[in-house]
Amino acid sequence: MADKRDFYEVLGVDKSASDDELKKAYRKAAKKYHPDLNPGNTEAEKNFKEVNEAYEVLSDKEKRARYDQFGHAGVDPNFGAGGGNPYGSGFGGFGGFEGFDGFGDLGDIFGSIFGGGGNTRRNPNAPRRGADTATNVILSFEEAAKGCKKSVKVTRIETCDECSGSGAKKGSSPKTCSACHGSGFVTTMQRTPFGTIQNRQPCEHCRGTGKIIDNPCTKCNGKGRVRTTQTREVNIPAGIDDSQIISVRGGGDAGVNGGPSGDLRINVTVRPHPIFERDGFDIYCEVPITFAQAALGAEIIVPTIDGKVKFNIHEGTQPGEEFRLKGKGVQRLNYSGRGDQFVKITVEVPKNLTKEQKEKLQEFEKLSQDKNYKKRRTFADKLKDIFD
Ligand SMILES: [Zn+2]
Ligand SMILES: [Zn+2]
Repeated sequence: MADKRDFYEVLGVDKSASDDELKKAYRKAAKKYHPDLNPGNTEAEKNFKEVNEAYEVLSDKEKRARYDQFGHAGVDPNFGAGGGNPYGSGFGGFGGFEGFDGFGDLGDIFGSIFGGGGNTRRNPNAPRRGADTATNVILSFEEAAKGCKKSVKVTRIETCDECSGSGAKKGSSPKTCSACHGSGFVTTMQRTPFGTIQNRQPCEHCRGTGKIIDNPCTKCNGKGRVRTTQTREVNIPAGIDDSQIISVRGGGDAGVNGGPSGDLRINVTVRPHPIFERDGFDIYCEVPITFAQAALGAEIIVPTIDGKVKFNIHEGTQPGEEFRLKGKGVQRLNYSGRGDQFVKITVEVPKNLTKEQKEKLQEFEKLSQDKNYKKRRTFADKLKDIFD
């Protein structure tokens, strides 16, 4: 292949040779090497084939142009099949003797190389999955924590029930488009200096659907699909949190040609709670107690998402101390068990005391000071022992 002679050289003409000059040169060479005139001469037979091949290419305007630009590779169907062409045999068809196959085919070659089909070749009658749709839901803290049923508004494209998706009026059915024979595409040939280019374009007659509907369904105007807005009840799983998405399989737009429906995606917003805060599946809250309750210990009421529960705080509870209520947190999403609730104690300092309260408190303080005074003495004594 590599030692293939230049076609102009084979015919003994210039690159600029006219058709007439080519014809003359060919006649001369053909006569010279014709097998009938050179019986048994294998060399002449080889030359005769060479001359014919050269003339076949150079006498054809398109092939000559390709040969001028690409050389033998532009016109030889076998060139590249074994010639170290990086694109392999698939690309060898590019500019072969059978004619330039056009970009549609190239698209297919690349499609199969890269694993994706070109859109231009998609069969309009193939099943297609419907699109995903989205909606929003706002939940209370408790609804998210414990799960609930919620009505959400959903806009989706449905298969028209009037025509069962055919788009044709009841009692009639769509016809196969005669322009594209149902493929949805038409092929046009375009002559260019590089050969005939084959173009595949969506069929204008049927708008790429491959079908013609003479009597369109009145409900969907022949589309076979209708946009609907409906309210549907959705199960909100316990443990869902703010900014998460609930996916409802098959709740999106209906598929086409029997393809599956898309999914419905529900964006979740959880309203903040006045008392509770959530971190993962644990709940945090602060419970204020009085100074006396903290000092003496008490049975207090703690709010949980299950309602109020009683809780005993010990004598001498300090501000900021934290208690854990096991299993009183949020249901773990898609798992069993619940998180915990953490209760942080805050101590309220009383305001606007009555005269009696003040007196009692001053009395209490005096007692405390006496007690503290003794403590301080002891501390001072200890210091003295150490430093004096
Ligand atoms: Zn319809
Ligand atoms: Zn058509």
